[in-house]
Amino acid sequence: MPDCNLKANLAKCTCSYPTCSRKGKCCECVMYHRAHGELPGCFFPEDVERTYDRSIKRFIEAYS
Ligand code: SF4
Repeated sequence: MPDCNLKANLAKCTCSYPTCSRKGKCCECVMYHRAHGELPGCFFPEDVERTYDRSIKRFIEAYS
């Protein structure tokens, strides 16, 4: 299994939460939010991402 490409992931990361230790570690990011019934920040439009509401409900609302 290849190592995580942290630098490339960070370059593409759209999450605006400044102090998250999972930033750029997409596998950890997905696992964290999945465990909370949520989606990672990069799934959301920019204005919604900034609210830090990562719920599936908010995701559906954003694209309805
Ligand atoms: S989406 Fe969540 S877990 Fe991922 S970097 Fe942002 S705050 Fe961290």
